[in-house]
Amino acid sequence: MELIREIYVKPKFIKQMTNGFPLILKEAVDMPEVPIEEGAIVHLVDAHGGYIATGYYGEQNKGIGWVLSRKQKEVIDVRFFTKKIREAAEKRANFYDAEDTTAFRVLNGEGDGIGGLTIDYFDGFYMVSWYSEGIYTFREMVYEALNKALDTRGIYEKLRFNTNGQYVEQDDYVSGEKGEFPLIIQENGMNFAVDLNDGAMTGIFLDQRNVRKALRDHYSMDKTVLNTFSYTGAFSVAAALGGATSTTSVDLAKRSLAKTIEQFAVNGIDYESQYIKVMNVFDYFSYAARHHLKFDVVVLDPPSFARTKKMTFSTAKDYPKLLQDALNITADNGIIIASTNNASFDMKKFKSFIDKACKQASKGYKILEQHQLPEDFRTPHNFPEFNYLKVVILQVQ
Ligand code: SAH
Repeated sequence: MELIREIYVKPKFIKQMTNGFPLILKEAVDMPEVPIEEGAIVHLVDAHGGYIATGYYGEQNKGIGWVLSRKQKEVIDVRFFTKKIREAAEKRANFYDAEDTTAFRVLNGEGDGIGGLTIDYFDGFYMVSWYSEGIYTFREMVYEALNKALDTRGIYEKLRFNTNGQYVEQDDYVSGEKGEFPLIIQENGMNFAVDLNDGAMTGIFLDQRNVRKALRDHYSMDKTVLNTFSYTGAFSVAAALGGATSTTSVDLAKRSLAKTIEQFAVNGIDYESQYIKVMNVFDYFSYAARHHLKFDVVVLDPPSFARTKKMTFSTAKDYPKLLQDALNITADNGIIIASTNNASFDMKKFKSFIDKACKQASKGYKILEQHQLPEDFRTPHNFPEFNYLKVVILQVQ
């Protein structure tokens, strides 16, 4: 039997932990003198040694581990993981059944009881992402559990830890059938090319599914659409399919050009009728302003942090400025789709950024829609801080 280490929860944090908070925050605990190894099973206890929860130790930017169980006798083994994966998959039954969507999240970390681990479905293939060395020590158990719980065509994985912010080049294939990439998945009837074995990202951010649908169905017909930080151009594809007169995709990554062409192509859209710019978004804003360009719809979906040779950008600090730049080239009564995945601030704060930017630009605005994570990206009850995605669709007046 494996040694279970005890960690004392500080009095101030006991209530939060007993209420179901799943993350073990560094500041919430007193660490024992003998260091705890990544992947060790821990019991969280109060000052009297009273049991609170079982978790694992795994350092992540957010904390030092996650709660896995609140039953003292529950063993963390293949059976445990099988049950979690099965329960998670059952909650996505409508996604498995959907005919026009073949990519979705099956298990969303702490929202499905296993913080630090996510499992995505791509047309029969499973992509497992590991967010700490600690959770990765359960690798063999989790793969055995995944194959027991679900009918897997093939499995791929991404290691999202220990990389100093850099993605470690590796073969992401784990087992089963090897995919032929690009794999074409469907989302609400749109096609997207994904590659499960090509660097840190797959080609599509599944958490924006509902926003892409909204853009296609309600905001694109006969509109000019600017998609900034466009990556593979998924929003541009949605806009073009929704009847946009033109789309302009801007991203500074060189490979975004080929990737965006590919996304248009797999949807039967002539990419030559669309604009794809490989450049810094902020340079594009100046260019557009100089040329008096105005767009009916502007999509803003920047990374939380970005660094180029000339500048650094952080959504927490610079979003109001980004919005002002966007407002400057948005047509009267135009639409801005403002998005951020920065977990360090909430929807209220995000809306205050929008308010600030519009005031500074002397523009009125009306919020038409707001989105957070879609239902397959489940988050823990009562803890909105884990719902990192914030999208506001506003009309400029
Ligand atoms: N909106 C995209 C995802 C954006 S990912 C989607 O829904 O698919 C963030 C992208 O921003 C990356 O492709 C990165 O290359 C790009 N990026 C980061 N800083 C940038 C900058 N200053 N100008 C243009 N693109 C930038």
